[in-house]
Amino acid sequence: MTVQPNSIEARDAAYQLHSYTNARKMEAEGSLIIEQGDGVYVTDNTGKKYIEGMSGLWSVAVGFGEDRLVKAATEQMAKLPYYHTFAQRGHTPAVELSEKLIQMAPVPMSKVYFTNSGSEANDTVVKLLWYRSNALGKPEKKKIISRIKGYHGITVASGSLTGLPYNHMSFDLPIPQVLHAGCPHYGGFAQDGESEADFVARLARELDEMIQAEGPDTIAAFIGEPVMGAGGVIVPPEGYWKAIQDVLKKYDILLVADEVICGFGRTGKMFGSETMGIEPDIMVMSKQLSSSYIPFSAVMMNDRVYQPIADETNRIGTFGHGFTGSGHPVGAAVSLENLKIIEERDLVGNVARLSPLFLERLNALAGHDLAKEARGIGLIGALELKQQGDAAGTAGAAMSAACLERGLIVRNLGDTVALCPPMIINEDQVKEMFDIYAAALDSLSF
Ligand code: PLP
Repeated sequence: MTVQPNSIEARDAAYQLHSYTNARKMEAEGSLIIEQGDGVYVTDNTGKKYIEGMSGLWSVAVGFGEDRLVKAATEQMAKLPYYHTFAQRGHTPAVELSEKLIQMAPVPMSKVYFTNSGSEANDTVVKLLWYRSNALGKPEKKKIISRIKGYHGITVASGSLTGLPYNHMSFDLPIPQVLHAGCPHYGGFAQDGESEADFVARLARELDEMIQAEGPDTIAAFIGEPVMGAGGVIVPPEGYWKAIQDVLKKYDILLVADEVICGFGRTGKMFGSETMGIEPDIMVMSKQLSSSYIPFSAVMMNDRVYQPIADETNRIGTFGHGFTGSGHPVGAAVSLENLKIIEERDLVGNVARLSPLFLERLNALAGHDLAKEARGIGLIGALELKQQGDAAGTAGAAMSAACLERGLIVRNLGDTVALCPPMIINEDQVKEMFDIYAAALDSLSF
């Protein structure tokens, strides 16, 4: 790509520092400018159309250009564009959304706390856990166990929970209260000759040993995505979550399910916790909650979490936490309408119906010369490519570029190339997506 002087691409490179981007490469090459979206497709500033195979960032569940969400936002803007939820104030959209989420929860939940991004939500979780431990008179109970390759965001606390090198390197993370347990990727971390059941048993044993070594009374919680997303679409083996939960129960350690990607249908059930048999104390939601039409996120907690926190606010006189945008009325109104669309159009059912085709087409590529492993569940999947020599990520980046050239947007996480299309996708579009994906794979030569 050559950047024309004064073009939108040149101005982008001139004035913006971009996330997950090599800034020097961007200065030389510019960026891809997306102008418009409709259904599962987006169009760039040259008029070229792409299937958005990643729903943006795993998030545009109802597809692009959904008029009902536009209407919900504009109506709310006209009525009450902003109000806050500080100091015993409220507004109807946040009340209705919190009520709706508690009703939808797969396990009994008590309260919702609203935030604006997945990172903010997980940052809030860390603070809630610390506040609760202090409320219980257990000031030493502050450590949180996350996992290698887990992704929970990028703030100081949530970036520490994340278990990926790029999110720590040169940022002086992780903070000392965060520990990282083993990653449940059998294909990546199993020892020679280890069966899946033995692998699961070892991960549970290692978690138990970590808790013992640290001191069970120092551990506040374990956090995990039901299915890991940004770490490379890692579907844990059968029995993994049961084995992990057995260990946590033994030591009375809370469980946080980060449903930011899995939530609202992605895995074929409303929540990843249902698909994986997880009974969380806290659930973190964002992305498909508002289909990312507007930044919005939520933390849902049960009474074990809420009651001591409520007592502590009473002792101190207030809950000293809150974002100006917490429970923003426009975000809440859009989220409510988005959930209505997901339910009315049975988009969770659509994921479950299309998943066999999606996985069949994905798994068919596992035998390709360049492929190492195919992984997926529901409508989220990835093909991990073989690393080319010492250059980790080269194969993934080439695949991503080959897909883009052919009109498909995917995301390469190193050499793993992910797919996570809008949940409104239909059978023909799944086929179209994989036809392009397969042609792109065939076009690669190293
Ligand atoms: N948690 C998970 C599971 C995520 O996938 C992400 C983002 O990809 C986050 C948290 C962070 O969300 P945000 O980018 O909105 O801060």
